[in-house]
Amino acid sequence: MPTGSHPASRRIFGAPLRYIQGPGALSETGPTAAAMGPHALLVADAFVLEMVEPAVTGSCRQAGTQVTPLVFAGEITPAEIERLVTAARALPAHVVIAAGGGKGIDAGKAVAHRLQLPVVTLPTIASNDAPTSKIYVVYDEQHRLLKVEHMPCNPHAVIVDTALIAKAPRKLLLAGIGDAISKKFEVAQCHAAQGPNIFGGLGTRAALALADLCFDTLLAHADGALAALERQSPDPSLEAIVEASVLLSGLCFENGGLSVAHSMTRGLSALPETAHELHGLQVAYGTMVQWQLERRPATFMDEMRAFYRRIGLPMNLRQLGLPRAATDADIDTIAALTLSAPHMRNFDRPLSAQDLVQAMRAVESEISTQETKHETP
Ligand SMILES: [Zn+2]
Repeated sequence: MPTGSHPASRRIFGAPLRYIQGPGALSETGPTAAAMGPHALLVADAFVLEMVEPAVTGSCRQAGTQVTPLVFAGEITPAEIERLVTAARALPAHVVIAAGGGKGIDAGKAVAHRLQLPVVTLPTIASNDAPTSKIYVVYDEQHRLLKVEHMPCNPHAVIVDTALIAKAPRKLLLAGIGDAISKKFEVAQCHAAQGPNIFGGLGTRAALALADLCFDTLLAHADGALAALERQSPDPSLEAIVEASVLLSGLCFENGGLSVAHSMTRGLSALPETAHELHGLQVAYGTMVQWQLERRPATFMDEMRAFYRRIGLPMNLRQLGLPRAATDADIDTIAALTLSAPHMRNFDRPLSAQDLVQAMRAVESEISTQETKHETP
C-alpha cells in the first residue's frame, strides 16, 4: 500500500499473525501450513532446501499437507520470479513456505504475492528482519536494487528454529544485531518528524515501546548470544537476540518508520567496496552517523563504540570493507546518495549534504561532534 493513502491522523499497527521461536520449532510448520490446506510449496535455494526439507516435509506429512519443493536459483530478479511463478502455477498450492536468509524468504514472498497465497517464513539465519515484514526486494541482473514490493499483509506465520540459527556464522548474527540496533533511534526520529510508517499511517505508542525494548535487549544479551553461537547451542541470550533481530526489529521498522541509519545503506551502495557488505552491518555504521547527527554526548558515543568494538560491529568505512582510509571524495559520494533516500526526511531538522559529510568525518576520526562543534547546545 503506498504511503499517504490514509488520512494523516491515522495510527496503524501491522504484524505477522503468528510468531513461533525455539529449538526444533520447524516441527510447527506442519500444523501451521495444514490450517491453510493440503498442498504447500516450499521455496528455498538448494543449500537451504537440504537443511530444512526433511523436517518440513515430515512435519507437514504428519499434519496432512503435501509439500512440493521449488528450488530458488539464488538471485531475486524479475526473470527468476517469473520462472518460479510459472512452475508454481502448475502445482496445487494453498500456502507458500519460504525458507532461507533474506533472499530465499523474499523469493517465497514474491511467489505467494503473485499467486495471492498466504506465506509462512522459516528464517535459517537471523541476519535481518525480512521474515516478519510484508515487503520484499527485487534486483536487476547487475544486483542493483530494482524495486521494493509490498504484499497486502504480513506473513501468516514466522517460524524460527533457534537450533538452526545457533549453527550460523557469527558475522550473520552480528548483521542481525546491526539491523536492529538502529531501530530505537530511527523510530524516535520518525515519530518526532511525524513521518509515515510502512502502512502509510502514524506510529503507535506500541512501536515506540518495542523500539526501546529492542535496543535494551541487544545491549543486555549480545555477548551471551555470540557465546551461545560459539557453542552452537541456543540459550536464553540467543533466544533474546533472535527475538530482537527478527521480530522486534521487523515490527519496529514497519510500524515506527526509518530515518538516517537505513538511508545510509543507499549511500553505501555507491562505493563498490561497501556496496556488497551485509545490510545489517551497513545499518550499524549508519547508526553511528545518525548518533553524530543527533549530537549525542561523548559519553554515549564512547559507550556505543566500546559495545561495537567488543562484539565486532563496524565503526568506520574501513571495517565495512573500504580498503583505504576514507577520502573526502568517498565521503562526498556516500553523503550525496544518502541524501536522496526518502527516509532522510524523518529527522528532527532538515539535513544537508554538509551535515552528513561532517557527521561521517567525525565517525571516521572517532571524535564526537560535541567535541568539534562549539555551537552545539
Ligand atoms: Zn533493515
